Amino acid sequence: MDGIGIAMKKGSAESVASTEANFACAIQSELQRPYEPRFSRAWTLAGSAAVISSLSTSASLAADAGSFAEPVAAALAAYSLADLATGVYHWFVDNYGDASTPVFGAQIDAFQGHHRYPATITRREPCNNLHALARAIAFALPAVDAAASAAAAPAAAHAFAGVFAACLVLSQQFHSWAHENPRRLPPGVEALQAAGVLVSRAQHAAHHRAPYNNNYCIVSGMWNGLLDRHRVFEVLEMVVFFRTGVRPRSWDEPDAAWTENTTVTAIAATAKAGNE
Ligand SMILES: [Zn+2]
Ligand SMILES: [Zn+2]
Repeated sequence: MDGIGIAMKKGSAESVASTEANFACAIQSELQRPYEPRFSRAWTLAGSAAVISSLSTSASLAADAGSFAEPVAAALAAYSLADLATGVYHWFVDNYGDASTPVFGAQIDAFQGHHRYPATITRREPCNNLHALARAIAFALPAVDAAASAAAAPAAAHAFAGVFAACLVLSQQFHSWAHENPRRLPPGVEALQAAGVLVSRAQHAAHHRAPYNNNYCIVSGMWNGLLDRHRVFEVLEMVVFFRTGVRPRSWDEPDAAWTENTTVTAIAATAKAGNE
C-alpha cells in the first residue's frame, strides 16, 4: 500500500473511531431519556390492573348472561380498531409538534428519537416502552368501565374497552419486536408476525425507509395496506395544511433530525472495503 493509501486508511480508521464514539454517546443519551424504572414499572402495573379489571368485569357479566359470543366478537373488533388507532396516533406524533408540544411533547420527542436510532427500542426494559400509554390507560379505562357499569352496558362493552386498551399499551412491545433480531424474539412471536397477528418486521421496516409516510399501524398492521393504498394520511395532511398552513414532517424528508443515523454503518463499510 502506498503512502496516500496508508494515510487514507489511518484517516478513515480515526474517523470511524470518532464517529463510533459519537454514535455510542448518542445511543447512550437516547437510552437514558428521563426514565425512572420504579415509576415506569408502577404505571405499567397500574395500566395492566385496569385492563385485568375490565376483562374480569366482562367475563363475569358474560357468565351471568350465559354467552361469551358477543364479548369475544367485541374483543376482536377492539383488536382490529386498536391497530387503526395506533396508526392515526403514530402518524400524528411522527408528523406534527415537537418536544415542547403540550401533553404530547414527550411522546413526539420519543418517536423522533426512535426514527433516529430505531434499534434502541429493543434495548430498553419493556416497562420503559410501555409506561406512557399504560399511565394514560390507568386513568382512562376505570372511568370508561365505571361509565359502562353505570349505564348497565353488557359484557361486550367491557371486553371492547379492555382489549382496546391492552392493545394500545402493548403496541409498543409489538413495535419493539418488529425491530428485534428474529433469533432474540420470544418463542412464537415470529410465527405470529408471519401470520399477521402482530405487525411484521418487513412491514414496519418499510415505515423506516423513504418516503417515511406509510405503515404507521403497529398492533397487527392489518390497516396499513388499506390506509396506504387510499393515501388516507396524505389526504389528512393536505386538509391540515390547507386549514392551518402546517406542513407534516414527512413532506420535508430527508430530514437528518429523524432519519436513521447510518453514518457509522457507511463509514465502517468504506473502511472495511479499504482493508480488503
Ligand atoms: Zn414512525
Ligand atoms: Zn419503528
